[in-house]
Amino acid sequence: MSAFNVAKFGGTSVANFEAMSRCATIIENNPSTKLVVSSACSGVTNLLVELALGVHNPNNRDAIFDDLRTIHYTIIEHFSEQEKTKQAIDSILDTLKSMAEAASFQSSDKLTDHIVACGELMSTHILTQLMVERGIDAIRFDIREVLRTNADYGKAEPILDKISTLAEQKLIPLCQQHVVITQGFIGSDDQGTTTTLGRGGSDYSAALIAEAVKAAGLEIWTDVPGIYTTDPRVAPKATPIPEISFSEASEMANFGAKILHPSTLLPALRHQIPVFVSSSREPEKGGTWIRQQVESAPLYRALALRGNQTMVTLRSPNMFQAYGFLAQVFTILAKHQVSVDLITTSEVSVSLTLDQTNTSGKAPELPVEARAELEELCIVDIEHNLSLVALIGNKMSAKKGYAKQVFSALEDFNLRMICYGASPHNLCFLVNSEEAKRAVQVLHQELFEK
Ligand code: ASP
Ligand code: MG
Repeated sequence: MSAFNVAKFGGTSVANFEAMSRCATIIENNPSTKLVVSSACSGVTNLLVELALGVHNPNNRDAIFDDLRTIHYTIIEHFSEQEKTKQAIDSILDTLKSMAEAASFQSSDKLTDHIVACGELMSTHILTQLMVERGIDAIRFDIREVLRTNADYGKAEPILDKISTLAEQKLIPLCQQHVVITQGFIGSDDQGTTTTLGRGGSDYSAALIAEAVKAAGLEIWTDVPGIYTTDPRVAPKATPIPEISFSEASEMANFGAKILHPSTLLPALRHQIPVFVSSSREPEKGGTWIRQQVESAPLYRALALRGNQTMVTLRSPNMFQAYGFLAQVFTILAKHQVSVDLITTSEVSVSLTLDQTNTSGKAPELPVEARAELEELCIVDIEHNLSLVALIGNKMSAKKGYAKQVFSALEDFNLRMICYGASPHNLCFLVNSEEAKRAVQVLHQELFEK
């Protein structure tokens, strides 16, 4: 294991001079941070996506370029040595101009990746100079030399063994001598063509890089002070969680908590590299450690809320003491690629919720053909306007009285589909969407505020 840490800074953490200076202080304060992965400055990737989609009107295109130049120049203007960095930005903007013009004739996924990669290429020039001006021995490294991917532009898959070999050859030796500043989100295929890992891909980059250099720790600096017991906008007394296991964090993300998705951290966690999530704006508030093994495993860890549930209830007298009914149901669902989330059964009926596989955030729909086939087998009821509340914790069933505590707190609510038992880490149920926030508030008060 390398003795150093990888620190990743998100777009809002490098949004302007003040934000970037806070990052520099965080890096200075921890001498074991040797590798820094940066996102593009906040808002830049969105502007680049616009260019990549093709802006036909040259005036509109110029306006976007003005914005891009201003965002970056405004930071550089605080430097004592400005020329070198301005030239680096200008040269990227020049290349970008011809690519944006090409995209206005015909856009492609390959061109798009090259265009959107420019955000990280620019932000890292600036962050490096900012660090150098503070007397840190920082150098910029182009991660495309190491982060090898396939050529699936827009959502490229990393090629792990190549990344690991290249990191050993090119990156680890550099980190032993300097603080290395590099780009999140971007990579290159074996032709050397620029690729990206998909929007929001910097966390994933950071985890892949941490894995490749066998980092001692991975820090994810963002704009929230870690993971909270529940969304503080729902329950203002929610508090940050100091430590959470990877399985608990996965359950939370799965149930809609607005935290970084643990799947992006998998590369780090499969090598047992602990991950620390914190706010670069308020580092003094601490943050959350996500680890494979945690020291304390409290009964109740957090509450998550997910709206827009679709509940399907299937009823059939034929189910009575019969076998094969569920197999038939799931054959139909599988045939229509319907992914099921929760499930509860009784002797003559089964209720299930549909997985949120669409990215629109709308309630998932049961395909008409699937419904028709199910109706040949049983009575099908579909209900919307439901939300799912998930209580995340540890070994809840092993604790006497826990059910009483949870359910007495919720005695005023009409609970639907209670699920517990499959995972030792969660208990969940559905409530009417109008009541969902209140259910979370009441439960948070009972379980976390006393
Ligand atoms: N800059 C990229 C985006 O905004 C990647 C990232 O920030 O994670 O999607
Ligand atoms: Mg981002």
